[in-house]
Amino acid sequence: MTTMSFREAKSGERACLVLGGDITEEADFAPLLASALTPLVLDLVEVGRINSSGVREWLSFVREIAAAGRPLVLLRCAPAMVHQANMITNFLGGAEVHSVLAPYSCAACDYDHLEEVPTARNEAAPPNIAEQRPCPRCGEIMEFSDLSSHYLAFLNAR
Ligand SMILES: [Zn+2]
Repeated sequence: MTTMSFREAKSGERACLVLGGDITEEADFAPLLASALTPLVLDLVEVGRINSSGVREWLSFVREIAAAGRPLVLLRCAPAMVHQANMITNFLGGAEVHSVLAPYSCAACDYDHLEEVPTARNEAAPPNIAEQRPCPRCGEIMEFSDLSSHYLAFLNAR
């Protein structure tokens, strides 16, 4: 287990904080709450696992952000976060989710790939998970390795 950490980065022209590691009871959200970034943009690309204590910490974090009236934007939500969002109502609070990471695996070259799927409300087409995509490594067909009908369900439940 690697305890959650974060670093400052840029997503395009926009400043953001990249979260990494596992979200557990040891995760410290105080520095994120203290960040002056407005909106608070979090890139969740490097988040590994989240356990039940981590879920509680995360929920109290999003509640505090919402209570403070601060806009929260989430980029590249890692699969562990998407799974929780699909199980727990309001897991992402009032956050605007700009993209998620969708897990694919290629049987031909034994490669696991995370594809960024845009989910912002202002996208031209509704977000959609392709069952199959060309593998970026070998060019063969790789398959989505989760439930495609369910993966983005949290977007509609909010
Ligand atoms: Zn491949």
